[in-house]
Amino acid sequence: MEDNNQRQLLETSDGKQHRKKEAEPGLHTGENNNNSKKKFTFSIWYFIIVFILIIIFNNLFFSSHLNEAISIDYSQFKEYINDGRIVQVAFDGDQYIGYGFTKQDVAAAVQTLHEIAETKQIPSTIDTTAIVAYQTYMIDDPTFVPLLDEKGVEYYATEPAEPSVFSYLISALGPVIIFLIFYAWLSRKMAGGAQGVMSFSQNKSKLVAENDTGIRFADVAGEDEAKAELEEVVDFLKNPARYTEMGARIPKGVLLVGPPGTGKTLLAKAVAGEAGVPFFRMSGADFVEMFVGGGAARVRDLCKQGKEKSPCIIFIDEIDAIGRKRSDASIGGNDEREQTLNQLLVEMDGFDSRTGVIILGATNRAEVLDPALLRPGRFDRQVLVDKPDLDGREAILKIHTKNMKLDSGVNLRKIAQGAAGLAGADLANICNEAALQAVRLRHESVTQEDFEEAIEKSIAGLQRKSRVLDEKERIRVAYHETGHALTAYLTPGSSPVSKISIIPRGFGALGYTLQYPTEDRFLLSESELLGSVDVMLGGRAAEEVIFDDISTGASNDISRASDTVRQMITDYGMSEKFRNMTLPKTNSGIEGVSGGREYSEATQQYIDNETEKILNNRYSHVLENLKTNREALETIAKALLEKEVLEGNEFEALAKQFAVK
Ligand code: ADP
Ligand code: MG
Ligand code: ZN
Repeated sequence: MEDNNQRQLLETSDGKQHRKKEAEPGLHTGENNNNSKKKFTFSIWYFIIVFILIIIFNNLFFSSHLNEAISIDYSQFKEYINDGRIVQVAFDGDQYIGYGFTKQDVAAAVQTLHEIAETKQIPSTIDTTAIVAYQTYMIDDPTFVPLLDEKGVEYYATEPAEPSVFSYLISALGPVIIFLIFYAWLSRKMAGGAQGVMSFSQNKSKLVAENDTGIRFADVAGEDEAKAELEEVVDFLKNPARYTEMGARIPKGVLLVGPPGTGKTLLAKAVAGEAGVPFFRMSGADFVEMFVGGGAARVRDLCKQGKEKSPCIIFIDEIDAIGRKRSDASIGGNDEREQTLNQLLVEMDGFDSRTGVIILGATNRAEVLDPALLRPGRFDRQVLVDKPDLDGREAILKIHTKNMKLDSGVNLRKIAQGAAGLAGADLANICNEAALQAVRLRHESVTQEDFEEAIEKSIAGLQRKSRVLDEKERIRVAYHETGHALTAYLTPGSSPVSKISIIPRGFGALGYTLQYPTEDRFLLSESELLGSVDVMLGGRAAEEVIFDDISTGASNDISRASDTVRQMITDYGMSEKFRNMTLPKTNSGIEGVSGGREYSEATQQYIDNETEKILNNRYSHVLENLKTNREALETIAKALLEKEVLEGNEFEALAKQFAVK
């Protein structure tokens, strides 16, 4: 009970702080604070209880005072004096007490009662307060005392009722006590605030070291090279002596670089889990604070704790939030971030290689990091965590379907094939989506179809059957998509079409054509690049063949095609004039502001002209192809309109029948 109350009081006065404290009972600073709070709340309760007791006692005391006097009006009081019913009046403070007998009468009566009690041998307890009396409040009436004299009424003033000690205490100390309580509460709150400013970094519950992350390397699939490098890090942490004896310097920082969702955070946890060392985890954004210097203080704190708990791992997720190139800050300035970064650099220099603290960083944008952060002695190792290949994807699917009830017809390899280009997080999500789908459709177990549906969902957004297309639009979309698919079919070396759909998905995409590559591609030849441009242009070309008119539906296709062609010229050295030469752009260093180009205006002109020329060439080529295959285009589009979705083999059959390569 008592404990409960304390908690409630804390919660209401400063709930946040309290909860944080609860979350980190092991922290040294936290513990002290907790104690002082306990004492403090105890004293508050002590005060409150005493206060309530005082009031209760006081009420008891007052209520016993003159409880037998009958209250009457002043006029009646005077009347009673007049007709002799009152023969004795006591002036008691602001009131008159009138008795129907004199003091002598009482004394005599008491005397006789005592005598009777003595003779009859009964205990003599006489309660004189039980004697009936009249009471009224004084009125400034100059005729009152003369009236008493006239009637021969005995009158006297009583000693003013002694104010009770309690009531005195209340009136004197009550406000003080209330003020003290209020003051203490206020000052504690303010102190809490001030403390929050100065050492909030210590209060961050995230700063608690996780002693076992529960993740092992076995939980991370694919990423074999990254795992091999990190296994060495684990070995540093487990057997530091082996390395120092040999005179080797243990790396202080390891940077995990890779696209989002590839398992960087997961790998960092696995390193800590395998090494069995404490794991401090913070996100770069946690350092960015409202108060200038807060981030730097936090870094200092983190590193201090790391040293105390060594060997350990400090993991800074999304490190680009603080580690961005400092020179960038010219616009808008960002002193706070720079200070934080500087502090991090200083701290990393301060670690000597025997400390046994390894800082892991993760980012998906290593190119924006400050070079000072990447130099030897800081994050001197970079581990690439890339999107998984086919085998990797299959392994990841295997991990995430471990606890699922899978249908015997589920082919993980095939699913992995369909999920080309997706990262581990996407695959984990697909597995979950498939399971949800199976539950929704009341399947006995998760089927292959559930997985396929989940993949499509994650690639093209949620299926939106509710969005009804205008019939004219639907026809146009069908021809557009068939144009893509047919061009893919007609283009040598292009990936086979695996699905065409005119069911609108998500925002924007009214239909889509999926091509699954048969294998992962790392290199693309010039002809393959041009082939992909052809496929992108196929949609618009089909519209032109059929309707003699083009639409806005192709805007995305066109921008992708143009980008590809421009890249071929500037990055891949695939133009006629600048064969084998790149045409680089400088990085302005400021996001959203493009830098200058390192080539002449004339070259820019050439690039524009060449891009246009190539695109036009490809477009007329595609247009020709589709014109000669108009029959195939129409048959397939009609089939698509009818069925909404054509699977790869259905399309292939129709194309084989009607199209001429
Ligand atoms: P990142 O930090 O690279 O953005 P995360 O490590 O947070 O990605 O990955 C998110 C989730 O995706 C993980 O919790 C895990 O479930 C899944 N995942 C990602 N990569 C892998 C992988 N290689 N093996 C198994 N699961 C993975
Ligand atoms: Mg992450
Ligand atoms: Zn298109």
